[in-house]
Order: sequence, then C-alpha cells, then structure tokens
Amino acid sequence: MKREMEDVVIVGAGIAGLATAVALKRVGVRALVLERSQGIRTTGAALTLFPNAWLALDALGVSHKLTRSYDPLVKGSVTNINTGDVQQVLFSEQAIRPVHRKALLEALAEELPTDTIRFSSKLAAIESQEQGGGASIAVVHLEDGTAIKSKVLIGCDGVHSVVARWLGLAEPVHSGRSAVRSLAVFPQGHRLKHEIQMFVDQQGKRAAFIPLNDREFYWFLTCKEENMTGEPEQIQREVLEKYAEFPSIYLDVVRHADLSTISWAPLMYRHPWRIIFGNLNKGNITVAGDAMHPMTPELG
Ligand SMILES: Cc1cc2nc3c(=O)[nH]c(=O)nc-3n(C[C@H](O)[C@H](O)[C@H](O)COP(=O)(O)OP(=O)(O)OC[C@H]3O[C@@H](n4cnc5c(N)ncnc54)[C@H](O)[C@@H]3O)c2cc1C
Repeated sequence: MKREMEDVVIVGAGIAGLATAVALKRVGVRALVLERSQGIRTTGAALTLFPNAWLALDALGVSHKLTRSYDPLVKGSVTNINTGDVQQVLFSEQAIRPVHRKALLEALAEELPTDTIRFSSKLAAIESQEQGGGASIAVVHLEDGTAIKSKVLIGCDGVHSVVARWLGLAEPVHSGRSAVRSLAVFPQGHRLKHEIQMFVDQQGKRAAFIPLNDREFYWFLTCKEENMTGEPEQIQREVLEKYAEFPSIYLDVVRHADLSTISWAPLMYRHPWRIIFGNLNKGNITVAGDAMHPMTPELG
C-alpha cells in the first residue's frame, strides 16, 4: 500500500475544489486535489455568474480569462406564460455573464501546477489520527487502496460529500424540484439579442435560455419532481412534450440542444439551520462548496 504525506488535501476538482486550491496557491500553500473522474467534469453545461462570483474570480486572478470571451448580460425579460405579462429586467453593466462550465473549470485548473490534480482518485473513507498534544492528522483512504496523510483535509466533493457525512452534517434533502440543463448550438448563428429570456408558469415551471455567444445558448428548466433519468434524446423529447405550451422561441432552442451536454438532476439542499448548528469542521477536516451548503438556484 502506497503512503504519502501532504500539507493540504482537497477532495473534488469542481468549482469549489479548484477555487480553493488556487486561493491557497496565491498565499503560497500547495494543495493536492483528488478527483474521482478521469478528467474535469463538465456536467451542467454552463452557469450564469453573478457579481459576487466575479468578485471571487477577481480575487483569484482568473476573471480576465473569462471576461474576454463572454459578454455581459445587461438586459433580460421574464414572461408569465399563463397571463402573457412580460417583465423587463435590467442588470448593471459588467455584472452578469454566462460562462461554459468547462471554461470556468479550465481557467481555474490552469492556474495550478500540473501535478496538483490527481484524477481517478476516489475518496472512500477518512480517519483522524491523534498525534499527541491535541494535534491530529487526516488520513484519506482512496478506493484503489492508497492512503494519503494530510495536515489539512478540505472536502469539496459535492452534494453527496463523503467528508460532510464524516463530519456528521445532516444529509441534504430533496427540494421537490429538479433541473434540466444543456447547451443549444445554432451552427449558422442564432441572430437573437444578447439577453436572457425566462419563462415561468403558475405551476412552478421556470425555463430560460441565455446566449453564451453568437452560436450557442445555455438553456435550463426547473420544475417540480419529474423523473427524467433516461437517455439524452429522451430528456429532450420529454421537455418538448411536457413544455409544449411554452413559447416556440424556447422550444426551438431546446430542439437545437447539444445532446452530449444535456443533464437532469434533482435539486438538493441542506436546511440552513443544519449548517449553522452543524459541525463544519472537526480539527483539521472541513468542507466547502456544495459539500457544505448545497442549495437550489432559487435559494442561491
Ligand atoms: C444560485 C445557484 C445557481 C446555480 N446555477 C447553476 C447553473 O446555472 N448551472 C449549473 O450547472 N449549476 C448551477 N448551480 C449548481 C452549481 O453548479 C453547484 O453549486 C457547483 O457546481 C458546486 O461546485 P462544487 O465544486 O462544490 O461541487 P461539484 O461541482 O459537484 O464538484 C464536486 C467534485 O467532487 C468530485 N467528487 C465527488 N465525490 C468524490 C469522491 N468521493 N472522491 C473524489 N472526488 C469526488 C466530483 O466528481 C466533482 O468533480 C447553481 C447553484 C446555485 C447555488
């Protein structure tokens, strides 16, 4: 069995894990990032980043890499499809930009030395070993039998975090809503304005498309629990059938879905009081990102 010793181990190379590793690098601390996938996971397709996210990316020194590729959204509209009411929304200049998830993760990952992220490394279990004098070290056991000792362990392993469970944080609960997310590609250009268009109904459906550039949209919908765990074509077909009453402009974007990017996921959250009164750390082991505070987009 191979044994190693690290200063900081971060579990998960998602947004939280990579951002934490970049932040530590900026203050001169090296971290090892363990990721169970074989490469950067881009499930979710894209994200709309609001001002607080840009402040964080500024502090990490990576925002310039993204702002040169993605234009800000300054306008949008929300249409109530039951009443036909349209509400115009104005955003402050430079405040909100959609980005491909892949671009965001790569912008963070390329800040890190090449040996920082270790892929195909799935955390299976954790133990805390007392070192005397109140000090302890974390021992990370990977599924392949590797054990890594670390002075600090940060679980950024997402909503089903092994580290959060080890800390005794309450399991996330289902919000009763789920989300479909995807890119849509118009090879000849979509010719629509650079504006977010959102559609809501009185039954709690919320759908939107957001231009990423002249050819691509990020589109999503959130709805009450519906099981859409099938193949990409089936998810697309179900959206078109169940949302047939949505405006044709939205359905046309769904028809142009890049099926390799489509995903369906239940939206989970941890009750805020479970976070406030829960154990967010034990000694040198803690959590960040969805591992700590998973929430629905509406709550966020
Ligand atoms: C307001 C709001 C809006 C949002 N809007 C969007 C949106 O528009 N589009 C969208 O896609 N998402 C959206 N989200 C969700 C968002 O994508 C997540 O909050 C974000 O991805 C969490 O990042 P993370 O790094 O904490 O977790 P994750 O992205 O889940 O990353 C966790 C990483 O850990 C790895 N991992 C897990 N378990 C292990 C293990 N045992 N061993 C090793 N590695 C492991 C996983 O493979 C993964 O790479 C939104 C969330 C909020 C709050």
